[in-house]
Amino acid sequence: MRGPDVPRGMMVRMDTPYPHLLAPLDLGFTRLRNRALMGSMHTGLEDHRSRYPALAAYLAERARGGAGLIVTGGVAPNGVARGGWGRETFSHPRAVAYHRLVPEAVHAEGGHVCLQILHTGRYAHHQNSVAPSALRAPIARHTPRALTERGIRRQIAAFARTTELARDAGYDGVEIMGSEGYLINEFLVQRTNRREDTWGGSYANRIRFATEIVREARRAVGPDFILIFRLSMLDLVEGGSTFDEVITLAQALEATGVTIINTGIGWHEARIPTIATVVPRAGFAWVTERLRAHVRLPLIATNRINDPAVAESVLARGGADMVSMARPFLADSQFMAKAASGRADEINTCIACNQACLDKIFAGQRVSCLVNPRAGYETELRYTPTAQRKRVAVVGAGVAGLSCATVAAERGHEVVLFERAAAIGGQFNLAARIPGKEEFRETLRYFTRQLQIHQVDVRLRCAPDAAMLSGFDEVVMATGVQPRALALPGFADPRVVSYSEAIGGRVAIGQRVAIIGAGGIGFDVATLLTAPSEPADPIDAFTARWGIDRTLQSRGGLLRGEAADAGIRPSPRQVVLLQRKTSKPGDGLGRTTGWIHRIELKERGVRMLAGVQYEGLEADGLRITVDGMPTLIPVDTIVVCAGQESVRPALGLAPAQPVHWIGGADVAAELDAERAIRAGAELAARL
Ligand code: NAP
Ligand code: SF4
Repeated sequence: MRGPDVPRGMMVRMDTPYPHLLAPLDLGFTRLRNRALMGSMHTGLEDHRSRYPALAAYLAERARGGAGLIVTGGVAPNGVARGGWGRETFSHPRAVAYHRLVPEAVHAEGGHVCLQILHTGRYAHHQNSVAPSALRAPIARHTPRALTERGIRRQIAAFARTTELARDAGYDGVEIMGSEGYLINEFLVQRTNRREDTWGGSYANRIRFATEIVREARRAVGPDFILIFRLSMLDLVEGGSTFDEVITLAQALEATGVTIINTGIGWHEARIPTIATVVPRAGFAWVTERLRAHVRLPLIATNRINDPAVAESVLARGGADMVSMARPFLADSQFMAKAASGRADEINTCIACNQACLDKIFAGQRVSCLVNPRAGYETELRYTPTAQRKRVAVVGAGVAGLSCATVAAERGHEVVLFERAAAIGGQFNLAARIPGKEEFRETLRYFTRQLQIHQVDVRLRCAPDAAMLSGFDEVVMATGVQPRALALPGFADPRVVSYSEAIGGRVAIGQRVAIIGAGGIGFDVATLLTAPSEPADPIDAFTARWGIDRTLQSRGGLLRGEAADAGIRPSPRQVVLLQRKTSKPGDGLGRTTGWIHRIELKERGVRMLAGVQYEGLEADGLRITVDGMPTLIPVDTIVVCAGQESVRPALGLAPAQPVHWIGGADVAAELDAERAIRAGAELAARL
């Protein structure tokens, strides 16, 4: 059976800067209102039936914001498919009742929604995991059981059953998760499929599991139900598929009844970044584009598309029929509504930090978004219009102050924002200077626009005194932090600089550098000081740097040997990164991004020393002791990245005047932007 015959031409709207993005997609039996897919992302809300009202509210808000098609986070079709024990499966008609909340809520907002069916295969965090062969994944604790023929048939039937139940619940379709190294993907490649029966060996045998699932799912629901298949177009692991195999599979899926093919990039065990900030925008859209000549079905491009102009350019050049954005809809539920109404400059852009979303998922914590604290908290954190308009002073325009000032003003308060510096942004201005963190500027653009829209009175180069603050009903102190200075012998020397001086470019940095403190900022400074000059095209630089084969000739898309390392460029400086703890430097970095920073710095020759005791700076270098051994490190510059201290100016306000301390001014230890932005928003929601 062929999938629906969808014409490639688009009815583009010429009254908008995003005519291709806003063009509807007619699937024959149903019509999507635009080309933006809110891609699947695990939020934890899918894991238990009690959270489905919150899941429905979360997705409904995104549908209201104009997402053309939404795909839920992955739901398991049976017990062994689950990522971990205790998670919900969708395998029995009893579950239809709570699932129904989701399509009802999304449809009420004019959207379409598909359920993602995810079988985690050998990535499952439980002892009953199954796979084509009993081979443990490098990132898994348990060795899976190899499926028997009967077991394989049971998994196929489970996918079909869940598809049928999804239809009963009112979903518009399902996405069959066939990428990222999960079960279906494991059948496709010999790396994980060593079977010698009719499910292994030849490629025709290895794709049978995928095509049988699609065939049975289609048979269960008939022709007028969306079947998306997420196909791993670039595995980025040794022994992955060739691109010819990808084409063969795509054509087989097309012939079997799939409606849309979505792109998967990289297995979870791959050691190449696929969605972190270091990946350029739309950095993998070229892969989807390459497949387009070989199939007639609509294709979806994915990964690091976070801006309507980028999405439009992918679609306009014929690179795909839809674009998928997952985290961008977490960051701004109104993404498409803003793009459609000429308000793209109001979009709260996902900065690809992973800090409050994916890192939280892996830590088993509740998912939200660093730049949007309401994400995942839609039913709890509400910015309701105030019944009592107050005069609110916010002192400090770092992200805590910006968050507080903009939300308070949005709620209807009269807000004055004071900032001692000449510009808003505080520590974010420094972060945005780090190579790979340029997206942080988008957050400042967003806040700048919010200040204008909500008419916040911004007073730059102004540190208010008690008299200036005396007339306000509420005073919010968001005065932030300052770098901790170290009073070690010899540290009054001009060779010792703070991280803010180093990142801000206010001091000359020598060739030989010691960085004291290997936290997030120590790593950032090391990244900045060792950054090589890159070729002009960011996607060329990225793929060359990580050994990705742009010709798609090699298995898994990986270059080999010298070609793989050809894009690694030497550091212009010799840098040593020091810490007192004996743990591995960089241990405290984000779970999904820390490994990228460690690999990059290692390749640039940055030495990392743990268990260091600092003795002082002498004429010929920094004197330290490591494991009881005195050592001298010759240095031209020492950059101190030893954390921060709160800035808490004495105010002398009347005791009755309400004062609130937030962000780094409240607690400097382990300050991060997520906490600062959340603190500002939560306070503003209460004022
Ligand atoms: P941090 O993560 O707390 O690191 C500062 C490091 O300085 C500590 O790990 C500590 O390590 C060392 N230190 C503290 N006091 C010291 C002293 N008196 N003498 C010598 N060394 C001292 O703080 P940060 O790097 O300034 O980052 C601030 C916040 O921003 C953190 O919450 C961080 O997570 C976040 N951030 C994250 C990233 C990222 O994940 N990529 C990037 C930037 C910032 P030892 O005591 O072991 O030496
Ligand atoms: Fe994007 Fe960071 Fe928000 Fe995740 S936490 S959605 S990566 S901005």
